[in-house]
Amino acid sequence: MLKKKIGWKFDNTYSNLTKSMLSKLNPTPVKTPELVLFNHSLSKKIDLDFSQIDNKELALIFSGNKLPEGSESIAQAYAGHQFGHFTILGDGRALTIGEHLDKNKNRYDIQFKGSGITPYSRNADGRAALGPMLREYIISEAMHNLGVPTTRSLAVIKTGEEVVRESILKGAILTRVASSHIRVGTFQYALISKDKNDLKTLFDYTLKRHYPNIIKSKSPAADLLKIVLEKQIDLICNWMRIGFIHGVMNTDNMTISGETIDYGPCAFMDRYDPETVFSSIDHKGRYAYYNQPRIAKWNLERFAESLLPLIDNDSKVAIEIAEGVLKEFPEKYKKKWLKMMKKKLGLIDNNLKDEQLISELLSWMHQNKADFTNTFCYLMNEYNLNDKIYNEKNFILWKKKWGDRIKLNNNSLEKSLKIMRKVNPLVIPRNHLVEEALSYATKMNDLNKVIELLKVLENPYSNISATSFYQSTPTLEENYVTYCGT
Ligand code: AMP
Ligand code: MG
Repeated sequence: MLKKKIGWKFDNTYSNLTKSMLSKLNPTPVKTPELVLFNHSLSKKIDLDFSQIDNKELALIFSGNKLPEGSESIAQAYAGHQFGHFTILGDGRALTIGEHLDKNKNRYDIQFKGSGITPYSRNADGRAALGPMLREYIISEAMHNLGVPTTRSLAVIKTGEEVVRESILKGAILTRVASSHIRVGTFQYALISKDKNDLKTLFDYTLKRHYPNIIKSKSPAADLLKIVLEKQIDLICNWMRIGFIHGVMNTDNMTISGETIDYGPCAFMDRYDPETVFSSIDHKGRYAYYNQPRIAKWNLERFAESLLPLIDNDSKVAIEIAEGVLKEFPEKYKKKWLKMMKKKLGLIDNNLKDEQLISELLSWMHQNKADFTNTFCYLMNEYNLNDKIYNEKNFILWKKKWGDRIKLNNNSLEKSLKIMRKVNPLVIPRNHLVEEALSYATKMNDLNKVIELLKVLENPYSNISATSFYQSTPTLEENYVTYCGT
């Protein structure tokens, strides 16, 4: 029989790091793997061809029951500050089965999530449930289509096994594709590793893999801190732009590549309230919408601490250098945030009152519980429902001011709208729609709503005939909660 060519091109490099940084082991086979979702467009993008492979075989491959040739699966060790408390962690239920190179030599970690216990599982089962894995698939793909750096999702399979959470759920495995899984927490782990060379080894590896242009710079460690700081500022600005709340911004959930990772208790904000949190365990609002930039800075401080020995042998000097980099965060963030908000409002050129105009709108939205996404749609004439809220007199006054500002310097509304349409999504994965789709999939084995939602979220900036359906917000949504125990 002719061997079907998928085009795997594994070149596994992380597994060459010191033993203390990882464990080599295979996924635990599952009972009756069955394909649920497969991302053909992503597989094409990374030069893999599964067109000759039937669903049965896809299920065997992406359950880990039949590993592709050239793969070498590893669990990575890492640590992390979880809600501010330092813990030793590691891939407790994930295995990177290898690094795949596309035709342009772009490198992708192919990782299974839910593939069985590892030396880092602590007391947990190493497994994942179908609902949360489908949720990660939907949200991560939506984030990608919204133009936000993120890990992506290639496949979801059902394992045919049960997982025990608050109730008994269907087991599943998600295949995640990432430019790497190096986290702030990986550096925190290397810093305290028994093997004293781990930090330098990980650092050299990271530069080679992600930032080769600074290998020969005068101060590569300080430069890495600077780059990651910029990447994280860009990322958080993107999250703020679309009303995304990550929910668990622990240092182990922050990547060095600048991709969004670990979709646990994350969600999109409906009505605008800066204090919005969705995570059931985030009582103090540590990871609330408005707090995300502050937490990013806090995480970067932990990253800087891990880099100190590489910045300078003299710890005093190293601290001074790191602080010099970190202290630029607030101003840099503010600048990028302002630039982003100006785009959301189509404000061309600079005007002294721009910031005030923006904050007036945000205050109005907050006071009037206006929907974050829909308000910008309304300003773009892309809101298809009838909402009395936009007849409110203060909003009308603000809109008049905005309209006058738009026209300054001979600019036109058309020009502004062009800018706005690129940054203001018409549709987002709204919580009630995601939940409904997941409920059909998990309870009734009906994937149609998931597939429909994924389709709509492929082009979040273009008008679709059913936009109004996706713009509707539920009234009973006050206490939307997401859970960590996925
Ligand atoms: P997370 O909250 O998803 O970022 O996970 C935090 C840590 O808990 C990571 O080290 C995970 O690998 C681990 N973990 C989460 N769920 C499980 C599970 N079901 N089995 C084993 N480890 C888990
Ligand atoms: Mg995590």
